[in-house]
Parts: sequence; structure tokens; C-alpha cells
Amino acid sequence: MPHRPHAPQPAADTTGTSPSQHTASDAIDETQAPNVPAGTHAPGFAARGLSAEQRYSRQTLFHGIGGAGQDRLAKGRILIAGCGALGSVLANSLARAGVGYLRLVDRDFVEGNNLQRQVLYDEHDALEGMPKAIAAEQALRRINSLITVDAHVADITADTIEPLLDGIDVVLDGTDNFEVRYLLNDACVKTGIPWIYTGVIAAYGVTMTVLPGDTACLRCVFPERPLPGTTPTCDTAGVLNGIVGAMTGMASTEAIKLLVGSDRLVRGLTWMDLWENTFERVELPRMPDCPTCGLGQYEYLDAPLDESGVSLCGRNAVQVRPPRGIDATGATLDLRALAERLRPAGEVASNDFLLRLRVDGYEVTVFPDARAIIKGTDDPAVARTVYARYVGA
Ligand SMILES: [Zn+2]
Repeated sequence: MPHRPHAPQPAADTTGTSPSQHTASDAIDETQAPNVPAGTHAPGFAARGLSAEQRYSRQTLFHGIGGAGQDRLAKGRILIAGCGALGSVLANSLARAGVGYLRLVDRDFVEGNNLQRQVLYDEHDALEGMPKAIAAEQALRRINSLITVDAHVADITADTIEPLLDGIDVVLDGTDNFEVRYLLNDACVKTGIPWIYTGVIAAYGVTMTVLPGDTACLRCVFPERPLPGTTPTCDTAGVLNGIVGAMTGMASTEAIKLLVGSDRLVRGLTWMDLWENTFERVELPRMPDCPTCGLGQYEYLDAPLDESGVSLCGRNAVQVRPPRGIDATGATLDLRALAERLRPAGEVASNDFLLRLRVDGYEVTVFPDARAIIKGTDDPAVARTVYARYVGA
């Protein structure tokens, strides 16, 4: 049976800090931290009163973690797939909790309509159109200089997922699409890495921890991937930041339980609706004929990549990948040279991370891995044409 929550307890001190505990040393200037390389301590950090022991004291006081659990978190390695609403909140929570290594992967850039829920980003990131993985990495380094953050501006595909899983203990779903979730399920079941599915829409959310070979996997519960366009998305139905907080709170706590070796993991699917005030949990059996965890057929992992390289991104935008093989070589585009070449065509802006071209009513964002997101169309053929015209075929 799933573990039932304890009876509600009064929360006398929701801040975790009573007034008498404030001292001069609380006024630490953390603005010193941003330029510190990942995995190193900020200069004078401990000397100025913020040792790891103090930083995590409210967490080590908790009976389920303690000092030994905190040490395990410091050795933990988590992949966060997607750094949108779910991924940015998950990364924020786990960085603050002291998970020692976070690998972030996201293919997209920050926009103004992200700021309502994607907690790691600010107005500057949106104005600059910063890649989410980079902006998240910079924010996390200011939050916790004791951990390592490894950011990848990349698309998660059957071609790229294997190295991204290397050395990882737990995978967290921060994506907004089933294409990547079914791929994560295949890859994690095949490699035996636990992963936590989470999804949110409107005021509704769902989460499920998959322990390969032990609990039901995604395909035991939802055998077939929904066709694109058949399910509502945050671009069509909206999303409240409260449900993002609720579901990521559950998922990040499950990840912490996994890393510390707790036996209190949720077994089953949990869903809730914060507007309708519903909360449900059901433990689901593994299916012996599940293609993935029953029969060991990894259709999504083994499927040939769509040669068109084109996928819908929701919101009147299409992603175009470069011809297959190019993204796996590690070669990168010279964005400055491309900017010079495109300047006669339209309005061009670029930084170290991306190039943006406004032309013919389209906004073309090109990344160093030669991917582009074409905004202003839902038609893959149009997007491919725009890509070929300005980036190259
Ligand atoms: Zn299964």
C-alpha cells in the first residue's frame, strides 16, 4: 500500500528560523559567488559563517536525512531533463538541498511568459533570450557554490541521451512533452536508473517514480504515447505556479529519498488538482507484457531519428535540427560569422549562446549545435524552408 501521510501538524515556524537566530553573520554577501567555478567554495565562504553544516542544518535535523543522509546527497548525481517550469523548480530545490552534482539539459531559451513559474530566471534572462540551461546554471551557482552544475544546451534525442545518463543516479523529468518522456523511460529502464515522471497542466499535476525492474514503468501505465496535438499543453490550457510547486515538491523529495536510501518511496501514480481540491494515489502493477520493462523492447530508444529533424515546440514554433550526425560530432557553429553573413537579410542579434534573426515575420533562434527554433509558424515544412534559407540545408 502507498504510504499514507501523517495527520496534519501545526506549522509553528514556517520560515525555519526564529528571530533570535538572526545574527550579523546572516548578512552574507552572496554576490561574491557567481564567478566561482562549479564544485569549489566561494572565497572565504566558510570563514564568513556559512559552512556546509550550517547551510544544511534544518535538513539534517530531519529524522529521515541526518548527517549521513546529507553526505549521501553530496555524493548524489541527478540529471534534470528540461529546465522549464518543472526543471527549474526541481533544480532550485535540489541545489539548495545540497545534491552534489546536477546535470541540466534544455534546448530552449527564456521568454517573458516563463517568469510566472520558472523560478531560476529573471527579466534580464528573458530580455537577453538566454538559453535556459545557461541561465539556470548561472543562477544555481549563485545559490550554492558547494555543488557542481553541468549545463547542456541540447535536445534530448535517441542520439544524445546515452552520454547524458553517464554516471547519473536519478533522472528527473522536467520536460513538457511525451516524445522525450517515452525516450527517458526506455533509456532508464534499459540502464536500470530510477526516474521520476512529472507533468503539470492548468491546476492539475501527476507524478510517478519508476524503479526499473521493481515498480511499473511509464509504458505499464500508459502503453502508447499520445499523438502530438491530442493532449492539452501549457500553451493552450495555461498552468498555475502552485501546481508546479506541489508536484516538484513531491518529485524532488522522492529524488532525495532515492539518494539517501529511504524505504519510504511512493509506489504508484499520484495526481492532484489544486483548483478542484482533489488528491489521488493508486499503486499500479507492472505489466508482464509491457514492451519496455516486460519484453525489453526499447522502441523509442532504438527508433531511427526522424530524418526531417523537425518537431513542434508548442507555442507557434518549430524546432529544426541539423542533418543527422552533425549534432553528435560536437562541432559548433561560429555564431559571429553567421551573424555577419545574415546581417543583410534582416535584424540580427547574437551573444555567446545564441543568434536571433528577425526576418519575413519569423524569429529564428540558432544555437551553437546548429539547431534552430523558428517562431511564427506551426508548419514543419515552412520551418524547414526558413532554416534552409538562412542557416543552411
Ligand atoms: Zn513497464
